[in-house]
Amino acid sequence: MAEPRNPVDEAGPQHHVVIIGSGFAGLCMGARLKRAGIDDFVILEKDSELGGTWRVNDYPGAACDVPSHLYSFSFAQSARWTRKFPSRDELWAYTRGVAERCGLIPHIRLATALAGADYDEAVGIWRIRTSQGAMTARFLVLGTGALGRPLIPEIPGLAGFRGTIFHSSRWDHGFDPRGKRVAVIGTGASAIQIVPEIAPQAARLDLYQRTPPWVMPRPDRAITPLEQFLLARVKPLQWLYRFKTYLQYEIRALAFAYWPQLGAPARAQALAHLRRQVADPTLRAKLTPSYALGCKRVLLMNDYYPALTRPNVHLVTDGIRAITASGIVTTTGEERAVDAIVLGTGFDVEHCLGPIAVRGRGGGSLLDSAGDGGLEAYKGATIAGFPNLFMITGPNTGLGHNSMIYMIESGVAYVLDAIRQQRRDGWRSAEVRPEALAAYNADLQHRLKRSVWATGCKSWYLDHNGKNTTLWPGFTFVYRWVTRRFDIANYIIERP
Ligand code: NAP
Repeated sequence: MAEPRNPVDEAGPQHHVVIIGSGFAGLCMGARLKRAGIDDFVILEKDSELGGTWRVNDYPGAACDVPSHLYSFSFAQSARWTRKFPSRDELWAYTRGVAERCGLIPHIRLATALAGADYDEAVGIWRIRTSQGAMTARFLVLGTGALGRPLIPEIPGLAGFRGTIFHSSRWDHGFDPRGKRVAVIGTGASAIQIVPEIAPQAARLDLYQRTPPWVMPRPDRAITPLEQFLLARVKPLQWLYRFKTYLQYEIRALAFAYWPQLGAPARAQALAHLRRQVADPTLRAKLTPSYALGCKRVLLMNDYYPALTRPNVHLVTDGIRAITASGIVTTTGEERAVDAIVLGTGFDVEHCLGPIAVRGRGGGSLLDSAGDGGLEAYKGATIAGFPNLFMITGPNTGLGHNSMIYMIESGVAYVLDAIRQQRRDGWRSAEVRPEALAAYNADLQHRLKRSVWATGCKSWYLDHNGKNTTLWPGFTFVYRWVTRRFDIANYIIERP
């Protein structure tokens, strides 16, 4: 049934669906709408090119630690991956290819940033303000992800540093590390990919480690032309390979979410990896984590530890007291002069929605909706007070063990079913019932209690209250099951 045009009195195009973000989530939503025959949608992208996180994070060595054949859409599989683990360039090229193949290019509005959105209760539509003007939508879908806002640490003196300084996700491509003294702050997934790339070029590299990560070998390899040929020609082979990889990763949920003690063999493997690659016992001791493997994200790297054994690389485990105009002062009082500082300090996950004003029923702000209890959503998708607003990869849909693309496809299926039901039944708005939201989250938090993420480490998985607002507590196929259809009984439905 065609959607009747919204009775709006404000200038600007009217769309059935407005999607924010052209990363994997936004593209998946668009591709699924198209396949369902729903053409009246736009994808807003604040940047001048599409691709989301895999476009933005273009630091040296950027790559994904989930295998290519799994970190891609089920409906747009590629037989042309050149490596088992995709580089950032290959992933970005893949997203652009998907946008073209799925006919999404005409729907994407580049350089169009969301400035704000207000739910108009009188007509049941979203009034959206963007950097390019206003528009309206029956459904507003946020595909902006949790890792978009760089976390700039509050270190005294940081703003006064006179050398080059930038965050890993805002790489300064004019910066040439050759012959420079470089400090890298942080030892997360981004920093440990950067260090092996720039260490051979820098005169000196100081790596500031606050907490050592668990690092496992990365079983990467090239995918041979013969394998690519077979995967392209024998489709069942592609599905089998993907399924086998999915199972290999999915089984890890047992150790992450249910029985952390099952992580013991992985822990032994990671310690053996460290022993093999670092001979110096003092350095090795500094690199040995003291928390449960999996509590923070497990990292897969083969050339990280070897980079730390280079004579020009120094692992600094003293804290940072201040940054001066020309260097970093540690908590021991030592000042280490540097020409450049790379902030591998991660993302502000807790405030990932940013300062954008999204106001729902009664003018309630999405930013304030989190309150003291932390950000919560129903099935990672909907929030009470925000009718017809959906998130893809919203709260508690993240993973430590498998491909986020699987979660994205699950979340998109849920939203698509809501949109289909609305078009079929003609209701005006759907808003999750507060009691459904509360019960869902109580169960989720209960299940998270037994997980490895609750074993006492500090990580971006937890908010400032120590509440896990980011991760899905178990098998990904369970999330697929709970999102398989839009469960309208848990929603307050308004009809025209
Ligand atoms: P991250 O994992 O949050 O790591 C940030 C690092 O900076 C940590 O080592 C942290 O130390 C340190 N840090 C933060 N503030 C600091 C301060 N004031 N002083 C000293 N050290 C400080 O961030 P990320 O490496 O950018 O990765 C974020 C997420 O992006 C990953 O967990 C992953 O999900 C995703 N990612 C994925 C890939 C991939 O291969 N798929 C690649 C890159 C990123 P503490 O540990 O002590 O807090």
